[in-house]
Amino acid sequence: MYYDLHTHTCYSDGTLSPADLVARAAQSGVQVLALTDHDVTDGIAEAQAASRKHGLVLVPGVEISVSWQRRTLHILGLGIDPGHEVLQAGLARLRARRDERAVTIGERLEKKGIAGALAGAHRYAGGSIISRTHFARFLTDSGHARDMRQAFKRYLADGMPGYAPVEWVGLDEALGWIRASGGQAVIAHPARYKLSAGQLRRLFSEFKDAGGVGIEVVSGSHSRDDYFRFAQFAKEFDFLASAGSDYHGPENAWMELGRLPALPAGCTPLWTAWPLARSAASI
Ligand code: AMP
Ligand code: MN
Ligand code: MN
Ligand code: MN
Repeated sequence: MYYDLHTHTCYSDGTLSPADLVARAAQSGVQVLALTDHDVTDGIAEAQAASRKHGLVLVPGVEISVSWQRRTLHILGLGIDPGHEVLQAGLARLRARRDERAVTIGERLEKKGIAGALAGAHRYAGGSIISRTHFARFLTDSGHARDMRQAFKRYLADGMPGYAPVEWVGLDEALGWIRASGGQAVIAHPARYKLSAGQLRRLFSEFKDAGGVGIEVVSGSHSRDDYFRFAQFAKEFDFLASAGSDYHGPENAWMELGRLPALPAGCTPLWTAWPLARSAASI
């Protein structure tokens, strides 16, 4: 079975519609797909409908923005009930923070001589959640940056002129929402946070105490070395191991669906105890 448990659509900062994402995933050999948009679950119903058409299993998910020790972390909720009120009330608060932050980013870019960034970013967001990715697309297409990478590096990354810090939500609270809605909490792309081994261990034990069950070992943004490093951490902390591409759309030509390697030997996959692993096997 091929699992991809981390993907985005145009309901957050991806570019494909849920139906197009599911179709492309199915064509690429994905058999179990989690949709994990940032701080929103609006794409899940459409993805569910498309998954029935294409014969793949759709896992409802979300990628929650969390603040931990003055850093932003991303926590995946997998197998959530998108209709759960506690989860939805929490996600609505995060989206309100995104809206406020977007105004600040717009003001900061304006001071740097870049006019119209807020309106520009909203055009790319198209009414869905507003992300730095939408500002990056505006900066790139208006010639202020050569590509998305440079837009982040010059303007939007932590410490750059267009960066606006946000207090998202604490680890305990985010895990409370995920667990209340029946989901499993997984730390997304742990290699991305530039944490020392000591800081990672502290994060992992706090995450475990809060009820977290897994970490992404195989991720589209991890190197080969990272796979093995985080497989070791998973073993050390008795975490289940997850795998996800973090696919945002076909524009990122360097990353395509269906290309993740298998989890390193010795990992216990997140899906080991999932009932759908059995039903999916009969597709
Ligand atoms: P936000 O949650 O609005 O702060 O935006 C974070 C998103 O920006 C991430 O989920 C990535 O999709 C994207 N991102 C972050 N850093 C980079 C980068 N250096 N290049 C391209 N995209 C990035
Ligand atoms: Mn993103
Ligand atoms: Mn992320
Ligand atoms: Mn992601």
